[in-house]
This record gives sequence, structure tokens and C-alpha cells, in this order.
Amino acid sequence: MGHVDAGKTKLLDCIRGTNVQEGEAGGITQQIGATYLPAENIRERTMELRADAQLNVPGVLVIDTPGHESFTNLRSRGSSLCDIAILVVDITHRLQPQTIESLNLLRMRNTEFIVALNKVDRISGWKKCKNAPFVKAIRQQTEDVKDLFNMKLAEIKTQFQDQGLNTELYYKNKEKGECLSIVPTSAISGEGIPDLLLFLVQWAQKTMVEKLTYVDKVQCTVLEVKVIEGHGTTIDVVLVNGELHEGDQIVVCGLQEPIVTTVRALLTSHPMKESRVKGTYLHHKKIKAAQSIKITAQGLEHAVAGTCLHVVGPDDDMDAIKNSVMEDMESVMSRIEKSGEGVYVQASTLGSLEALLEFLKSPAVRIPVSGIGIGPVHKKDIMKAGVMLEKKKEDAIILAFDVKVTTEARELADDMGVKIFCADIIYHLFDLYKDYIEKIKEEKKKESADEVVFPCILNILREFNKKDPIILGVKVVDGILKIGTPICVPSREFIDIGRIASIEKNRNPVDYAEKGDEVAIKIVASNREEQKTFGRHFDKKDELVSHISRRSIDILNESYMNEMSKEKWDLIVVLKSLFKIF
Ligand code: GDP
Repeated sequence: MGHVDAGKTKLLDCIRGTNVQEGEAGGITQQIGATYLPAENIRERTMELRADAQLNVPGVLVIDTPGHESFTNLRSRGSSLCDIAILVVDITHRLQPQTIESLNLLRMRNTEFIVALNKVDRISGWKKCKNAPFVKAIRQQTEDVKDLFNMKLAEIKTQFQDQGLNTELYYKNKEKGECLSIVPTSAISGEGIPDLLLFLVQWAQKTMVEKLTYVDKVQCTVLEVKVIEGHGTTIDVVLVNGELHEGDQIVVCGLQEPIVTTVRALLTSHPMKESRVKGTYLHHKKIKAAQSIKITAQGLEHAVAGTCLHVVGPDDDMDAIKNSVMEDMESVMSRIEKSGEGVYVQASTLGSLEALLEFLKSPAVRIPVSGIGIGPVHKKDIMKAGVMLEKKKEDAIILAFDVKVTTEARELADDMGVKIFCADIIYHLFDLYKDYIEKIKEEKKKESADEVVFPCILNILREFNKKDPIILGVKVVDGILKIGTPICVPSREFIDIGRIASIEKNRNPVDYAEKGDEVAIKIVASNREEQKTFGRHFDKKDELVSHISRRSIDILNESYMNEMSKEKWDLIVVLKSLFKIF
């Protein structure tokens, strides 16, 4: 995990000695893939660290995350599928927003992780030592380079500390568990890669023997749901424990209901080749954990990525299995607004959807959600989000987190007036949403500007002109007097005498006058017939007030909260009872 461009793809390439990154559009990791690294390979790579005798694992299955947190959220029997995560930090950029987002997620899920401090070769003056253990590589550097490295390391350690985490170079770290280990690496020249591999394996062997010991009960997680030419909709899964067979009856979590189907084919890619690299698949009659596998079967169209796959045994209770696969989905469903009002959210996996929902619900955000989807945004999702156009127009929005939007869906959205916001960092979605809502508010405010009425009470001090227009000297007894405010005389059967056309304070024109101010005002009636005259329709002892209404109060509430103090609201209450608005 880590920020975009920190080097996750390159690091994995370096570990497995292939080059997926260059085959990808713009080098951005788009999908989840996995690689199995056999023990022999790891042994060979870590030879220089003289760790030969210490390797007891048959190999390591490395899953490349698509650049964000969905991976740690993948479910495996209710807990995270991920045993150890590697947080990749670019030494030249230090901690970046996505690094911190990943960090928080790892902590939330209690996932163990280490830090790969990548791109050490970019330190100015670095002498490359291809694939060397880090300690050996750093010894070859000049004092200047060592100083630079130490300086950058110190900065990053401070940044981690700001996040509440103690960190230390892995070979100096005596309190593993308390203190996070940092392994400096270069994905280009390979320094530190032996250290990273050995550290991962040793840590796993030391702390997770039980968790990692093979058992027969099938434990399997759906990574991705993909349409593959010639195979229809397939699911990519990670088989963590047990064995899968062609013809097995399986149950998978579906968007609406559990999917019960039969394994048609079990496919894998070639060893040392990542599963997302295109090519022919190997067919298997059966497969034993740990492996990443593509399963073909009927009816997988609505399968939910990030959930568990169950195999139905002869003695199993089908209903119990069905309930159990849908449990994850229910936790998500329970977060949907009962009122049916809110935005529509769409994410790549159940895990990333959960992370997004959790974020939207947090006190600082509070964006209600009315509907959810998993996978690419299709026309049907636009239709669902479009329901809001009738109910609450500004909620006719899709927040699309790390998913593609089909061309037809985008066209339909444009036609219907449904907004789609796409991002692969959660808080960017929030920013887009916030900006949009701000814009809508501004527009609404502009539209209602003629109808807004601020509360005020005025006492007449003197008259300058009796009518056409009425010009008076007044004192603002309470509230705020603004240009445009309709003025009425409650003591004279609430007659309206017109709107404030201008205000002068100390002979200077002003836009408003506040409590205590003494100003001259010009009042203009909207048409001749309604013209009133000072001295006839009202006079000096009459109090003048702004003519509020239900609608004007609503507008204040909606668009002018920041201009309304408690005092002014108190005055609104007084005027409400005066005008009998309930
Ligand atoms: P990701 O978005 O985290 O998967 O990042 P990539 O692996 O695509 O790397 C982003 C860019 O950084 C690419 O141009 C890589 O070649 C470059 N890069 C990655 N790791 C290193 C490294 O250790 N050293 C140097 N010099 N460049 C690196």
C-alpha cells in the first residue's frame, strides 16, 4: 500500500523480476493481482544475508494492491485476509496523503505492517549496489550520502511520530511490535530487497505460525469479479487454506442475494507471472492453498469482491452458509439511510465500499447514503441514483471510488442530470462533493436573494419626506436593516409601506445598518397604488418592522446561517409570533 507513485508496482516487479508496470497505462496499478514466490526464489535472493537455515515457509503469496486500501479490507472469515502489509513510502516525498490514509486503515483493521522506504537510489550521489542487502549498500556510500539518508530518515520518523507511531530501521529495532520497522529499498537497483523478503518471512514465521499453518477447511476470498472473453463473468480468488475442485458447489456473496453455483474451471497463471498479466491459463482439476485462482462458473455477475467464498460439503446446512456469506453485505446495507434520501456510492470491493461508508458517516463528514453498488458504474446505477432527482435534487450524485464508469452510463447521467464524481482517494471524493454542494448553495442563495428578509425593528426619529418616496430618520432598535427589506407597520393593521431602497449613515450610502445605528432610509412602494404616506397611514410613534414570512425564514435557514447570530434568531422568534407564523 502507499501513495500513488511511491513505487508499489516497481517494488513488486523487482521482487519477482518481471515488469508489469511498463505494460500498464500510465504505470498506474489498476487491478488486484497476486504472485506466488517459491521458497527457492526467496532463498536465492536472501543468500547474502546468510539466512538459509531460517526459511521454513514453502513460499509467499504476494498480492499487489491497486494503490489503495481495499486490499486490507478483503474478508477472510470475518477478519482481514491480509497477514502483513507493506506500506511503501517514497523517501524523496516522505509521508503523503494516501500514505496516511493507508496507515489509518491498517491501524483500524489491526493489520501488521512494515514500511518500505523506497527510492533510496534517488538520494543525490547514491552509488548503486545492485540487489545488495541494505547494510552493505549503505556502507559503500560517501559520508555525504549517509548524512543525507540519515536526515531524510529522521524527517520521516518525525512524521510517523506525528501520526502516533514510533519507527526504527529494521536492523536496529529491538522492540518489534511496539515499534514499526523500516526497510530502506530501491525498486530500481534492488538494494534492500533481500532484507525486505527475509524480514517478511522471518516475522511471519515468528509471530504467525498458527495463523499460517495450513488447514484443510477451505478459506477463500474473492479479490475481483471480471468478465473474460470466452469465460463470461469470472472471479479471481485467493485460496488461503484447503483445496478447491472442479465441480465443487460454491456459495458467494451477491449484491442482493447469495449466489449458489458450481465451479466450471479452476485456472491459474504461470508461476512467477502475475495473475493480471494477459496470457493463457493453466487448467486444474484441483488446487491446494495458498494460491490465487480464477474461477469460472455460471451466475457470477453480481458477485461481490472482497467477500468470502464457501464450499458446500456433504453435511453442510445450505441456509446457514447462505446466511453466513451475506453477513458482510448486511453490515454495509445497515448503513444506508432509512429515509431513502442521500447520495449513491459505488466502490470496487466490499472492503473499499465499507471504508468509504465509514468515512461518509464520520462526524466531520456526515453525508447520507441512499444506495450502494460494487464494481464499474453501469446504466442501472445511474437509474438508481436518478431516483433522487425527484426527492432531493442535490443528492442525485454518484460517488465512485476507484471504479470505472461505462460510456453509456456517463451519457445517461449527462442526459438525466445525475452527477458522477470519481476519485481513487476517499477524501478527494469528499472534496469534490463539498465543492459541488457549496456551488449549489451559492446558486440557491443567488436565486433567493430577492426574497430573503433579515429581521429588524425600527423607531422613527424624524421625517424628511412624507411620500413618493418616503424618507425617514430611524434608529435600528433590534436586528439588522438591509437594502431590499420589506417594511410594515404592525400597529396599523400590518400595512406594508414598501421596501428599503437606500440607507445613509452620516450622509454616506451604506448597504446595511445594525442595532443602535441611526440612519436615513428611503422607502419605495412596489407600485403607485400601494404608496403610503407618513402622517396619514402611519406616524412617528409607530414602530416599523421587517415583514418576514415562512419562506423568508426558510431562506435564512438554508442560505444565510453564517450571517445569523443567536440574537437575530431570537428576534425572528419575536416577529414570528407578531406575524402569527407557526
Ligand atoms: P505505484 O503507483 O506505487 O505502483 O508506483 P510505480 O511502481 O508505478 O512507480 C512510480 C514511478 O517511480 C515509476 O516511474 C518508477 O519507475 C519509479 N520508481 C519506483 N520505485 C523506484 C525506486 O526505488 N527508485 C527510483 N529511482 N524510481 C522508482
